[in-house]
Amino acid sequence: MGRANLAGGPFQWKSCDRHVPSRPPFQGKSRAFCRVRGPELRPKARSRTLRVSNLGSLTAPHRFCLKSAETTLRPVHTVHDDIERILISEQEIRAGIDRIALEITSAYHERDFTVVAVLKGSCVFASDLIRRIPVPLELAFLAASSYGKGTTSQDLRINFVPLDSEIAGRNLLLVDDILDTGRTLVRLKREMLDRGAKEVRTCVLLDKPSRRSVDFEADFRCFEVQDLFVVGYGLDFAGRYRNLPYVGALKTAAFERLQGAR
Ligand code: 5GP
Ligand code: MG
Repeated sequence: MGRANLAGGPFQWKSCDRHVPSRPPFQGKSRAFCRVRGPELRPKARSRTLRVSNLGSLTAPHRFCLKSAETTLRPVHTVHDDIERILISEQEIRAGIDRIALEITSAYHERDFTVVAVLKGSCVFASDLIRRIPVPLELAFLAASSYGKGTTSQDLRINFVPLDSEIAGRNLLLVDDILDTGRTLVRLKREMLDRGAKEVRTCVLLDKPSRRSVDFEADFRCFEVQDLFVVGYGLDFAGRYRNLPYVGALKTAAFERLQGAR
């Protein structure tokens, strides 16, 4: 891993021993080049100089691709840079999911059930969770969103629900990212029961009990968090940060930048 500070900001490059940039890779931001060489370059050239801005072309056009993408060049500013602090690490998330996966497995081991993932926030959590549950299950999706894009729960809009045949007479496990005021899961649970579900239980990655405005508790929950807006592992701010592998708190500067951009 190498780093270079250029006029337009810091960049970093990564290479494995077979893809070593042959000379200092950066001459200046707009004219920064990286010489990439190695047997994986296809089809003819074994070595080629690319502009930083053209590095995307390594993998797609020109039939000039790396078999494996060991050599990459990218701006150092990433979603990680907008995080004030990590609240729940990847390792802690894995352990938390293992724990509730066991609870869920023993709760359902002799009953058919369907995991209903509430999009978009629970997509990362639900996909990791179901792979830790070894008993048969089905998967369905439900999409709900708040009006507006702030940091508080607002009125809920249900964008789509599973087919009636996926709901009626089934044991459902609603999986959501975070239980905050509780209004979302109360509303979704009622909606599923009204549509004929036999039983509806709920599972959340995060729980903020101090924020509850309705009488509701999740049947399964991984972590309790304080009253603080969090992002990552599926949770967003202004549509971003879902791809962080951990749960963290955003820097004020990032809030302001994204709020200003709206
Ligand atoms: P509730 O209806 O329980 O108040 O809100 C649940 C929804 O509010 C969550 O599914 C999530 O979309 C949003 N939410 C609540 N707290 C947070 C938070 O700290 N961070 C993020 N990204 N979303 C939150
Ligand atoms: Mg949500």
